[in-house]
Amino acid sequence: MSLRTDAVNHVSHGKVQAPEIKGAKITGVFGENVFTLKTAREYLSDEAYKSLVASIKGGKKIDRSVASQIASGMRAWAESKGVTHYTHWFQPLTGSTAEKHDSFFTLKGDGTAIEEFEGAALIQQEPDASSFPNGGLRATFEARGYSAWDPSSPPFIIEIGNGKTLCIPTIFISYTGESLDYKAPLMKAVEAVNKAAVNVCNYFDKNVTKVVPTLGWEQEYFVIDEALVNARPDLLQCGRTVFGFTPAKGQQLEDHYFGSIPERVYAFMRDFENESYKLGIPLRTRHNEVAPAQFECAPIFEEVNIAVDHNILLMDVMTRVAKRHHLVVLLHEKPFAGINGSGKHNNWSMATDTGVNLLAPGKTPKTNLMFLTFFVNTIKAVHDYADILRASIASASNDFRLGANEAPPAIISVFIGDYLTKVLNDVESRVNSKFDEQDEAILKIDLHRSIPELLIDNTDRNRTSPFAFTGNKFEFRAVGSTANCALPMTVLNTIVADTLVKFSEEVDALIEKGDKKEIAIMQVIQKYIVASKKILFEGDGYSEAWHKEAEKRGLPNLKTTPVALDAMVTDKAKKLFKDNGIYTTAELEARHEIELEKYIKKVQIEARVMGDLATNHIIPAAIKYQNELLKNVNLLRDAALPEKLYKGQLTLLKDVSTHIQQVYENTHAMVEERKVANNIEHSREKAIAYEAKVKAQYFDKIRYHVDKLEQLVDDELWTLPKYRELLFLR
Ligand code: ADP
Ligand code: MG
Repeated sequence: MSLRTDAVNHVSHGKVQAPEIKGAKITGVFGENVFTLKTAREYLSDEAYKSLVASIKGGKKIDRSVASQIASGMRAWAESKGVTHYTHWFQPLTGSTAEKHDSFFTLKGDGTAIEEFEGAALIQQEPDASSFPNGGLRATFEARGYSAWDPSSPPFIIEIGNGKTLCIPTIFISYTGESLDYKAPLMKAVEAVNKAAVNVCNYFDKNVTKVVPTLGWEQEYFVIDEALVNARPDLLQCGRTVFGFTPAKGQQLEDHYFGSIPERVYAFMRDFENESYKLGIPLRTRHNEVAPAQFECAPIFEEVNIAVDHNILLMDVMTRVAKRHHLVVLLHEKPFAGINGSGKHNNWSMATDTGVNLLAPGKTPKTNLMFLTFFVNTIKAVHDYADILRASIASASNDFRLGANEAPPAIISVFIGDYLTKVLNDVESRVNSKFDEQDEAILKIDLHRSIPELLIDNTDRNRTSPFAFTGNKFEFRAVGSTANCALPMTVLNTIVADTLVKFSEEVDALIEKGDKKEIAIMQVIQKYIVASKKILFEGDGYSEAWHKEAEKRGLPNLKTTPVALDAMVTDKAKKLFKDNGIYTTAELEARHEIELEKYIKKVQIEARVMGDLATNHIIPAAIKYQNELLKNVNLLRDAALPEKLYKGQLTLLKDVSTHIQQVYENTHAMVEERKVANNIEHSREKAIAYEAKVKAQYFDKIRYHVDKLEQLVDDELWTLPKYRELLFLR
C-alpha cells in the first residue's frame, strides 16, 4: 500500500478526539497567561509597579534594583501557575521566533538548591547569536548579540504539553548596537510616528501628547489533514505543493466562502482560539475563505507593537494546536496552484492619547481638517515611497501571489473610494484661488456622516487594491500570510513619520510668512494631493489595462523579490531610514543581504524538492504505467488484433513516454542551472539567477508535464495525494 492510500484511508477512518473546551465565557480565560498590569499590581511593590508603568507608558528606563523586584514578582506569579523555566523571546530575521529556556532552578555556592529570577536575567541575556542571520554585521567568531527586555510588550506563559515557560518579549541587538531582529526597528518607527504625529495633531489639539499606530491583521490559512500532508514531501519541506493537477471542482462554485465551517476544523478553531485568549490575543472573527480548505481569523486591533507579537504568537499557537487535531496549518502564500492564495491584510491607523482615531473622518470642520491632513499625508507617503513599501513585503513565497491575477498586484496604488476622490478633487481644483471663503465649504462637508454611508453602499470595497482606505483605516492588503507584520509596519510607519515631519515644516514656513494656520494647512494638503495623484487608482487592480496604465504613470511594477529588494538600499532609502533613526546604512545593507539569502535558499529548496519528487515519485509511477501499457499493446499485437483496436493505448503510451522524457530532461537541465547559479558570488546576481534561470525557466515547465502525467497515469499507481484529496477530504 502506498503512503497515499494509507493516508487517504487514515483520513476517512480516523476519528479525531478533539479536546473538550469548557463552555465558559471568553472573559473568563482572557489574558490568564499574561503578566498584565492588573497582575503586576497584585505581585509588585508600589515602587516596582510605578516604575513598570512609567516604562510602558512613557518609555522610562527601569533601574537594576527595581528590575530585580519586578523579576521576582514575575517569578512568583509564574510559579503560581506551575512555570519552571523562563526564556527571552525574540524575533530574529529568520522570520520565526527564538527562545532559549533557562530554569528558575539554580544551585547556590554552598550547594543549596533554590529557585530565582534576577533583575539582570530579566533585563538582558546573551543567546549565542552565531546561528542567526546577521548579513555580515558580525563575524561568526565574535558572534555576540544580546536580547534586551521590552517592557512595552507584556510577558506571557507558553504551555506545551505539561511544560510551562515564562516568555519575556525582548529585542535582539549586536554588541555594537545594530539591531538583529524585526522588533527593534519597529519600535523606533513607532516612536518616529509618535513624535511627528503629535506635532501635527497639535495644530488642531494641544492636548494630544501621544500617538500610537494601531494594527489589526487578518490571517488567512489552509487546514489540511496531517496524514495527507505527511505523504506530500513538498508540503512538508516547502509549505506548498510544487506539483498537483487542479481538480475538476476547485473554487469556481464559490460555495466555500462564508459557508459553514467543517466540524473538525471548527473544533480546531475553538481550541486554538482558546489558547490564544489565554495569551491575551483578542481574536474576534473566524470564517471560511474563498478557496476550499481556506480560512481566516482576525483580532480586535491593538497598538502595533503588541499586535505584531500577537500575530507571531498566533501563528505558533495555530501550528502547535493543529497537531492535537491531526491537522496541519499551511500559512504559505500559495500552497495550491490554481486556487486562491493567502494574505495577511494589515489594517492600520493612528490613535491619540485623547482617544481619537486619526483616520476617522471628523464631526466638526476642525476635526475634518485633521482627518484630511493625516489621510492625505498617508497617501503622499505611499506615493513617495511606494518602492520601499513594495520591498517590505517581498519574499519568495509572496511572489506567487503578487503579480498573479488574484491578489493585489505588485504595483502599489491607493484606493480611496468615489466620495473621497471627489473631496480631494474639490480641494485640488482650488489651485491659486483664495482659500479664505472657499475652505469653509470643504470644512463643512460632513465627512463623518458621508463616508461610512458610502462605504456601506460600496460593498465589495475593491478587493484588488494593495492599499485601500476602508472608512477609518487603511488596509495594506499585499502583505503575505507568512510574513512578520513588523517589517511592513516598520516601513509604513517610517514613511508616514517622514512625510508628517516634512508636512509640519512646510506648514510652519507658511505660518511664519503670515498665513493663517488653517489656510497654511489647506495649502500644503492641496500641494500633496497634486503631487501624489498618480498613486490613486479606483479600478480593477488585476486587469491588464491597469498594468499598462500604471506603466504610463511611471509606477514601478516589480514582480520578483530579487529586484523588488533593490529599493531597500537606494540612496533614497538610506536617507529615509537614517533621517528617521530607524536603520543605519550598515543595518539596511545587512538586511538586504539576509533577504536575498532567504530568497535563494527558498528557491533552492523548492528546486531540490521538485527534482526529488520527479525522480523518486513521478517518473517511477509513470514508468510502471508505461510498462503496463507496453505489455498490453504487445499482447494485443501478439493476439493479432488489428491496430485500430488499440490505437488509444498507443497514443497513451506515446503521451506518457513524451511527458516522462520531458520531466527527465527538464529536471536535469534545472540541476545544471542550479550549479551555475551556485557559483555566483554576489547575492543579488545569484538571487536573480535563481529567479530567472532556475525558477522562471523550469518550475512551470516541469510542473506542466508532471501534472499531465497525473492525469494520464493509473490512479492506483500515483503515490502523491491529489488536490481533490488534500482539499476536500475532511
Ligand atoms: P474586513 O471587512 O476587512 O474584515 P473589519 O471591519 O472586520 O474589516 O476589520 C478588519 C480588521 O481591521 C480587524 O482586525 C479590526 O480590528 C481592524 N481595525 C478596525 N479599526 C482599526 C483601526 N483604527 N486601526 C487598526 N485596525 C483596525
Ligand atoms: Mg479586510
